[in-house]
Amino acid sequence: MKQTDVIIIGAGVIGCSTAFELAKRGYKTLNIDKNSDAGSGSTINSCAIVRAHYSTRDGVSLAFEGFKYWANYEDWLGIKDERGMARFMNCGTILLKSQGHNWRKVLELYRELGVEHEDWDGATLKKRMPIYGLGEYWPPTRPEAGDAFWKEPERELEGAIFTPGSGYVNDPQLTTHNIMVAAKSKGGEFLFNSEVAEIRKEGGRVLGVTLKDGTRIDAPVVVNVAGPHSFVINRMAGVENSMNIKTRALRHEVHHVPSPEGFNFEKEGTHTSDGDNAIYFRPEAGNSILVGSEDPECDEKVWIDNPDEFDRNLTEAQWKAQVYRLAKRIPDLPVPNQPRGIVDLYDVSTDWLPIYDKSDLGGFYMAIGTSGHEFKNAPPVGYMMSELIHRVENGQDHDNDPVKYNAVYTGLELNIGFYSRNRKINPESSFSVNG
Ligand SMILES: Cc1cc2nc3c(=O)[nH]c(=O)nc-3n(C[C@H](O)[C@H](O)[C@H](O)COP(=O)(O)OP(=O)(O)OC[C@H]3O[C@@H](n4cnc5c(N)ncnc54)[C@H](O)[C@@H]3O)c2cc1C
Repeated sequence: MKQTDVIIIGAGVIGCSTAFELAKRGYKTLNIDKNSDAGSGSTINSCAIVRAHYSTRDGVSLAFEGFKYWANYEDWLGIKDERGMARFMNCGTILLKSQGHNWRKVLELYRELGVEHEDWDGATLKKRMPIYGLGEYWPPTRPEAGDAFWKEPERELEGAIFTPGSGYVNDPQLTTHNIMVAAKSKGGEFLFNSEVAEIRKEGGRVLGVTLKDGTRIDAPVVVNVAGPHSFVINRMAGVENSMNIKTRALRHEVHHVPSPEGFNFEKEGTHTSDGDNAIYFRPEAGNSILVGSEDPECDEKVWIDNPDEFDRNLTEAQWKAQVYRLAKRIPDLPVPNQPRGIVDLYDVSTDWLPIYDKSDLGGFYMAIGTSGHEFKNAPPVGYMMSELIHRVENGQDHDNDPVKYNAVYTGLELNIGFYSRNRKINPESSFSVNG
């Protein structure tokens, strides 16, 4: 039987970052993952977009802190990975001023929290991104709606908010590998091809885990960072029923299309949130554009009961919906005949905000419900989880006296109580991938 200080179930970007930050504090960590390498779960297919517009003050504060980690990526890690280092592509974000986003609140929060930004009118937007049309199409519809989908816009969007500090990470799996190497450099251990089958407990505290092959590993602290399998692990631990906020897996398609003729979107494009068409898009290697959905009401949600079995094939209907929506914003977009892209799962919480919390089982913690938008926050969330675990294991009653701390780079106060499993459903949430 093996013994360690902290078992982390999952070696995705958040599991690895949690390991790195705990190992820096001197904890002996062990990440266990049923896949064969770090970042091979839902992280591998992440669009890895790094932006600061969230619907809540806490959300913007955490993402702003994340900007700083990405800008200081190699310093934060302090290692060189033989496999190579991932790169933060600092292309900036255009948040279109549309009815699909509460951009006025975002602007207020940027001003209050000090997030660097530019406030563009329509003419500036047109000058900075000449390939975009400014037509307003609200509300989002599907191509199946025929005339309603294709109707000509009657008004123009009034502009955009540009944040120069944002962008995307070029390789989410390599990033995760980099973070794993950094965790190992601080003594962190990793066990792959190993599936957690049981969470053992006694007297209201966690004892450790048992793997599918019968191996037992003990630790006073176990952290659920199992991504779309988070609800499976919570059920194993017997903690799900007592939580007010729960998680489940949602299927999500992302598509790739070429840049318009004569424009190099890979080099000159920016990440763009187009709430008017309920899409987000960003530059992608091979001079192409990657486009995903902001989950509008009109798109049916495909919830998955078994995260080990879901259809990984693109559907023609969703390809058309996303790519045609993009063609409304970029009128010269070439629309290929063959769909190209990926399918993976979000781990969605009841209100689309994450759960970073302890549980009712002593020593059992969760960093789950990342709802399609927490790759960018993985570095500060690793720190947050290490702060939470350290304080609670040293006696702080987090449920009644929530752990608060000042963020490493921005110095902003972060309240981990915001991410409580027992919060009321947060009405400020966008209830979408925008968080
Ligand atoms: C298509 C898509 C696009 C996205 N785009 C963005 C984006 O642009 N920006 C952004 O910020 N976020 C984005 N996200 C969200 C982001 O990628 C996730 O929030 C993040 O990757 C979650 O990391 P994780 O470590 O929690 O989970 P995962 O990477 O899913 O890792 C969980 C790990 O747990 C392991 N596991 C599960 N059960 C067990 C078990 N019983 N035993 C052992 N191991 C187990 C799995 O094998 C897996 O490797 C996107 C997500 C998807 C799916």
